[in-house]
Amino acid sequence: MAGNPAVSDVVAALPLPALAIDTSEQIIAINDAAQKLLTLPALGRHFITALRQPAVVEAVERCLGTGKSANAQFLSRENATDTTYDVAVRSVPPADVALVTFTDITHVAAAGQMRRDFVANVSHELRTPLTALTGFIETLQGPARDDPAARDRFLDIMMKEAGRMNRLVGDLLSLSRVEADERVRPTAQIDLMVILNTVVRNIAPLATEAHIDLNADLPESPIILEGDADQLTQVFTNLIENAIKYGGRDKAVHIDVIESDHDTALRAPSVRVCVRDEGPGIAAVHLPRLTERFYRADSHRSRVLGGTGLGLAIVKHILNRHRGRLKVTSQIGQGSEFTVVLPQSLSGGG
Ligand code: ADP
Repeated sequence: MAGNPAVSDVVAALPLPALAIDTSEQIIAINDAAQKLLTLPALGRHFITALRQPAVVEAVERCLGTGKSANAQFLSRENATDTTYDVAVRSVPPADVALVTFTDITHVAAAGQMRRDFVANVSHELRTPLTALTGFIETLQGPARDDPAARDRFLDIMMKEAGRMNRLVGDLLSLSRVEADERVRPTAQIDLMVILNTVVRNIAPLATEAHIDLNADLPESPIILEGDADQLTQVFTNLIENAIKYGGRDKAVHIDVIESDHDTALRAPSVRVCVRDEGPGIAAVHLPRLTERFYRADSHRSRVLGGTGLGLAIVKHILNRHRGRLKVTSQIGQGSEFTVVLPQSLSGGG
């Protein structure tokens, strides 16, 4: 017992939740953080009744039995959120005390879960058009082999499904490129007005086709910012395409640019580009989640219109890189407004 006070001092001083177990299998020291995790008073208890979770108990048994290091995961729930800890069990000679420390790996576990969800989503998104394509190929090989009218119709649908897969793969590549350089600040001097005029010009045929009046009220003078021209082109293309797609026939889409010396959102000089449609609007519950990958407010409509569910996720990442913001306001039946807020200079404020 002579060494115990030293062990408890070391355990108390550790910045992680920690406890120590001696060869009689009792907890001989525990710090406040570990005690909080275990809830029941643990000092002096047998470790099995204090730790309880089988994986952790097994790791301690292995370490006490063999003297070898062992690790396990400890799952907890704190302040109404699930937490995950990596538990490291190490033997401390000469008394062969087992030192148990808990490292919070909740964010790592959450990232792993996100990755699994993402792969599942991508697979699902690709499988839908692939299943349609396979079905049509089989029909063309069999029943519709000698039916030229059906063949043409099916080939049209197959082309559309292939286009959907192509867009999805294109958006996934964009997203990964944008994510890869999200931390690299753009340094090129660009004229926002040149970008907006180009986007509006390129999108005009799409608006005409959809019977949409594209109402762009753009300033004549240049607005020079530090930015990545290709990426900002993508931001405005995605937002205006969405406004046309979801805005509906025979309506208008308005694009306005407002410069401000002191933006309330950025606390710095800014440029705001507002893209407003007169469509059905988006219910308030969806607004905070619109920029999540594959999140769709109206799933059916998005799919019919050939959406990938990635457009706004790409917009968000590009704006993060530019230290900008995306603000969305919408009223059911009145339309939606997507506002891009960009700082006038990346070096100051924001
Ligand atoms: P999608 O490829 O599905 O359009 P986005 O990431 O661009 O994906 O948009 C996510 C979702 O946000 C869309 O599925 C749609 O439900 C909703 N949305 C985006 N823009 C608008 C808009 N202007 N009006 C109504 N809903 C919109």
